[in-house]
Amino acid sequence: MSIFKKSEERLQTAVIGDLRQMIASSKMPPHVQQIANKELELLSKTSPTTAEYTIGLNYIDYLVSLPWNKKTEDNLDLERAERILNERHHGLQKVKERILEHLAVKILRTNKKPRVLVVDDEEIARKNLEHILKKENYTVVTAANGVDALKKMEASDFDVVLTDIRMEKVNGIEVLEKAKNRYPDTKVIMITGYASVDSAIETIKRGAFHYIEKPFKVDSVKSVIKQAVEKKLSTVSTKGSVLCFAGPPGTGKTSLGKAIAEALGRKFARISLGGMKDEAEIRGHRRTYAGAMPGRIIEEIRRAGSANPVFMLDEIDKIGQDFRGDSASALLEVLDPEQNHSFIDHYLDVPFDLSSIMFIVTANIADNIQEALRDRMEVIDLSGYTEDEKTKISLQYLVPKQINEQGLSDWSPQFTVDAISKIIQEYTREAGIRNLERQIANICRKIATEHVHRKKNIQNIKVTPDQVEKYLGTRKYYREVADEENRIGVTTGLVWTETGGEIIFVEAAKMKGNKQLTLTGSLGNVMCESAHAALSYIRSNALLFNIPENFFENQDIHIHVPAGAIPKDGPSSGATIAIALISLLTGKPAKRDVAISGELTLSGRILPVGGLKEKILAARRAGVKVVVLPLKNKVDLENLSNDVKEGLDVHLVDRLEEIVDLVLINNSSLSEQKKPTSKGHSQNVAICNPSSYSCSSPKKTD
Ligand code: ADP
Repeated sequence: MSIFKKSEERLQTAVIGDLRQMIASSKMPPHVQQIANKELELLSKTSPTTAEYTIGLNYIDYLVSLPWNKKTEDNLDLERAERILNERHHGLQKVKERILEHLAVKILRTNKKPRVLVVDDEEIARKNLEHILKKENYTVVTAANGVDALKKMEASDFDVVLTDIRMEKVNGIEVLEKAKNRYPDTKVIMITGYASVDSAIETIKRGAFHYIEKPFKVDSVKSVIKQAVEKKLSTVSTKGSVLCFAGPPGTGKTSLGKAIAEALGRKFARISLGGMKDEAEIRGHRRTYAGAMPGRIIEEIRRAGSANPVFMLDEIDKIGQDFRGDSASALLEVLDPEQNHSFIDHYLDVPFDLSSIMFIVTANIADNIQEALRDRMEVIDLSGYTEDEKTKISLQYLVPKQINEQGLSDWSPQFTVDAISKIIQEYTREAGIRNLERQIANICRKIATEHVHRKKNIQNIKVTPDQVEKYLGTRKYYREVADEENRIGVTTGLVWTETGGEIIFVEAAKMKGNKQLTLTGSLGNVMCESAHAALSYIRSNALLFNIPENFFENQDIHIHVPAGAIPKDGPSSGATIAIALISLLTGKPAKRDVAISGELTLSGRILPVGGLKEKILAARRAGVKVVVLPLKNKVDLENLSNDVKEGLDVHLVDRLEEIVDLVLINNSSLSEQKKPTSKGHSQNVAICNPSSYSCSSPKKTD
């Protein structure tokens, strides 16, 4: 044998030896350890030069690197949690309260003195166990037979049931089965005086947590019961409690998740489901594929180095459409406490217990989450911020954070309130504060460059509105409403999109033709239907609006909603479209600073809409003065805090006719050239007959 070959063999033996030791000390569950050892056995017989060797080596290496039993201990101090949430976030009172309630329930469940039911027909054994367990600070109840045990289980809740197998009438296996059916969270431990592998396997197969042989060793009884109690508490404390933060980008969802992790003293992991196209990204690839990898869930747990992190699954509402495989069932397996204690990643091929992870999911619009998943979530809505809130958050949190991150702590530039207002109004247009933070970071970077590159003294530099313009260039956004004139056939509407509220302008034009309705502007099907309903209502009630009854006889009508980037669907633009048509057909200009949101029925009634807060915030951002909303949204409106509605004149209406006077100007002062003409329609036009039309279907908005 050559020297080279010998040293190669020695190296391989050393690698196998190291791995064997790593498997032994990895604290993996016994069944996983068995598989790992089997793989190792195979590996020791495989030549290191083959591809199989590398695959096997990587696999075992991955198995031992997972935090199978490595958990951080929860810090269940609610006051500390409250302090951390407050320190990191301005406002969000209701959101914080709900998070704290959620944690309080978790703490109560975890701190409750565990209850154990001891079932044994032998009095001495019963008394013995009662004595041992009471000393361990458990609440212990005893039952002398199976019948008595079932009665006691019906009367109150137990974390652990410790039952003898052999008993008269109702035996331990029947107790186990009843418990599994009716109280699935309760852990059942079997005691047997006739311990044989068969009876033990049988009870474990039927769902027993463990079994103990008589005569039992006190320490092993204590240890098994402790494990059972821990297991029960970890499933119960996460059960039915997947928190879902729903709201537009930049409203603090991620940072709340991080704060919860910090408050609990847990690690934080996060993946975005948004761009995922394949189930394998969640569950991993089977090892038979070349270049197979574990899924993102297991990979992030490994990276976190803890089996109980706070795990954030971002954009759960974006998954599904073009996803290969069944996204709902893959995610249910992850999120459902009934299933996630034995999550199988295809690469690992052995179950991994996800039950002690605290999952938090985020979505832009909770309604877009698949129903089976949404049912298991506690949705907490986060909406956009008012300008005042944005200013406060900037001065208290974003500016200090960016000064620190951009290395300017020694110079502390001071941002004035006016400078922040200028950034908000002229350089951002968003519900949240993501871009605002980016612009503040931009300014800080420019100040840093001035110092380092141009040697400028930046001590106590003041960032004023002029400085903002100097650093960020000319303004990016204008108040769309305030800067434009009133026009015939153009109305202002409010829609609710994934990024928060937006204002839209509905334009209507008429031309000679033969009763065609053309709809353009990336409208979804529901919005197209709203347009048809609006036209039909006006046709059937033309005289009510002083419009000639036969106005549609020799004409075509075109409705266009510009801003192609905003996906538009949902019924809430019905009233806006109808008023644009009435404006067009009566020749009365529509007030641009009056924004409308309301669904229109064929009988002219205005139905309630969603996303009220987002829409009102969008109206204020755009410089709208008056908002017209459905009367049926009165309660929602009353529930909004005053600072959201401040400076807005809100009108609640029940019928379309009521909106006409609020929006249309009787005395037209528009010059002819400003009237809409039939020329210059955009391409990409969908021609619609009143009976048939085709529209695109963008994402759900309202
Ligand atoms: P999301 O996850 O909703 O998109 P983030 O959590 O990433 O939003 O928030 C964007 C930025 O805004 C982060 O720096 C975050 O700390 C900050 N932020 C958001 N809301 C608040 C708030 N209420 N108080 C302080 N900072 C906030």
